[in-house]
Amino acid sequence: MLSIVSIILGALIGSFLNVCILRLPKEESIITPGSHCPSCQNPIKFYDNVPLISYILLKGRCRHCRSAISFQYPLIEGITALGSLILFLKFGPSLSYLVYFAFLASLIIITVIDLHHQIIPDVISLPGIGVGLLASLIIPQIHLRDSLIGIVSGGGSLFVVATLYQWLFKREGMGGGDIKLLAMIGAFLGWKAVLLTILLSSLIGSMTGIIIMVLKGKDFKYAIPFGPFLSLGAVISLFYQNEIIFWYLRYRG
Ligand SMILES: [Zn+2]
Repeated sequence: MLSIVSIILGALIGSFLNVCILRLPKEESIITPGSHCPSCQNPIKFYDNVPLISYILLKGRCRHCRSAISFQYPLIEGITALGSLILFLKFGPSLSYLVYFAFLASLIIITVIDLHHQIIPDVISLPGIGVGLLASLIIPQIHLRDSLIGIVSGGGSLFVVATLYQWLFKREGMGGGDIKLLAMIGAFLGWKAVLLTILLSSLIGSMTGIIIMVLKGKDFKYAIPFGPFLSLGAVISLFYQNEIIFWYLRYRG
């Protein structure tokens, strides 16, 4: 029963994340005005704004002007609902569930905004560092010391990589946004997960880069935003860090 509540809560929050994704890069208010169709500007009524369900009932089109509604909306709502359910099944009805759900929601916003605009909004990552640090005081999964080392190692390691990269190649490879994002990830997950996140995101990121180069024939300077890979690495670390570290320690020799 509570699992169903976590799915509904996830879909509702997902709907709010869509608003953040659309408006944060334009520095618009995320509260007012209410949602409106980007084509005809007609306000969207509450009964047309039910996460996932309205999209299906309206067959993906605006009620007034019939222009297509981006598939991104139901996609984000679906992913957020699923993420909420998985976290609920892992942590149960607890503060830990709420903390990690807030963390996941931030990563979803950051990923989509970085994909569209190649920026990671400070307004998410900087407060995120503080929230992660505070959370380490109240949830049993992480201790304050681990969170602090996570912030320093996360932000610090990327800062060193970014500086080296700039010095070697004379151009910016990684932005300050990535550095603040990894500091936030460190705050929530601790330093071990930071190392794992760097490893996983570099691995997945470079494989994706090679695939894109082969498929599109773009050269190495074609910049792919790194934020989505850091976020993906962080989500994998959140769910599987114990299993991966255990597996590594068991099979390394
Ligand atoms: Zn419309």
